[in-house]
Amino acid sequence: MSLTCLVYAESKDGRLRRVALEALGAARLLAGDSGAVHAVIAGTDSAALAEAAAELAARGAVVVHVADDPSLHGSAPEAVQAAIAAAIDAVQPSAVLLGHTALGREVAPRVAAAIGAAHIADVTAIEHSGDGGDVVFVRPLYAGKAVERLRIVPGAPAVLSVRPNNLPPAKPLPPGIPQGSVAALAYRAPTLWTTVRSVVRKASGGVDLAEADVIVSGGRGVRSADGFAPLQALAALLGGAVGASRGACDAGYCDYALQIGQTGKVVTPQLYIACGISGAIQHLAGMSGSRVIVAINKDAEAPIFGVADYGIVGDLFEIVPLLTAEFRRS
Ligand code: FAD
Repeated sequence: MSLTCLVYAESKDGRLRRVALEALGAARLLAGDSGAVHAVIAGTDSAALAEAAAELAARGAVVVHVADDPSLHGSAPEAVQAAIAAAIDAVQPSAVLLGHTALGREVAPRVAAAIGAAHIADVTAIEHSGDGGDVVFVRPLYAGKAVERLRIVPGAPAVLSVRPNNLPPAKPLPPGIPQGSVAALAYRAPTLWTTVRSVVRKASGGVDLAEADVIVSGGRGVRSADGFAPLQALAALLGGAVGASRGACDAGYCDYALQIGQTGKVVTPQLYIACGISGAIQHLAGMSGSRVIVAINKDAEAPIFGVADYGIVGDLFEIVPLLTAEFRRS
């Protein structure tokens, strides 16, 4: 059985988000060799859209459907949903995939409801995929305390949102394989019930926490806003982002935009360095999926050491600058 998949490829600041390529990779896996993967992109910047379309076509989208319209400014959910709906009309996919981002979380259930499809949110792994094979979607529940495995009834339509940083991004097609084409989408602007008037960025720095490969995170142990300075230096050196526990946010040391955990962001970087964070279950819910966890805490009994791959018992104000100096040397 061949499967046709449609990927909504989300951009941010005119650039494709990495999770868009991860959703494309998942779609290619689902479609197998005999299926087809289409992509839809939507925005107002024609040059950025052209660049994104070329990248998607080079990574396995057979057709990239482009909606370029002023109503898509600010990615209002109704407008993005309308673009996806137009692409669904054109492609008739069995599965629609998108990133489990703030926007994806708003749009995916709307799309599923509109087409009467199953909706699986926050997929972190896909097992047993292949042509006509039994595909199982894995997702964490209850802040990571349980894992659910779901199968879609064969033939039923589905909308899947994939958690950033968990699935491998689609690789560029090998040389000699023809790249996909680009087509304008028959998009009609819907009535917008909300419009974005302005976006105020609260988190500083250029690396998006949700997509960062390296996160240096601070807890109440940093003791002040200034106490984050050594963490920022280490994160900058490693090309990473700074995160925080709710303890640090509640104490006013940093903005809530940095909070990681059950009521903050869920992150899965390659490397998570927890500095002065005790490791409460609510914090672990947001970071325990990280590939390698390093904990720095002066209390050897701190629960964070229970999930850490490497633990350093000591004062973060001594250890973090030492690590930074060591990384700078290497
Ligand atoms: P603490 O628990 O106070 O730990 C500070 C740590 O720093 C200690 O282990 C201490 O030994 C160490 N330390 C102190 N000085 C140094 C030093 N100089 N060098 C090295 N180590 C040092 N928390 C979250 O993080 N994210 C959430 O999303 C979240 N959601 C929540 C939702 C609910 C409903 C509830 C009830 C709580 C939630 N919490 C969340 C709060 C959570 O329970 C903890 O209170 C919080 O994570 C503690 O933050 P902390 O580890 O920074 O502080």
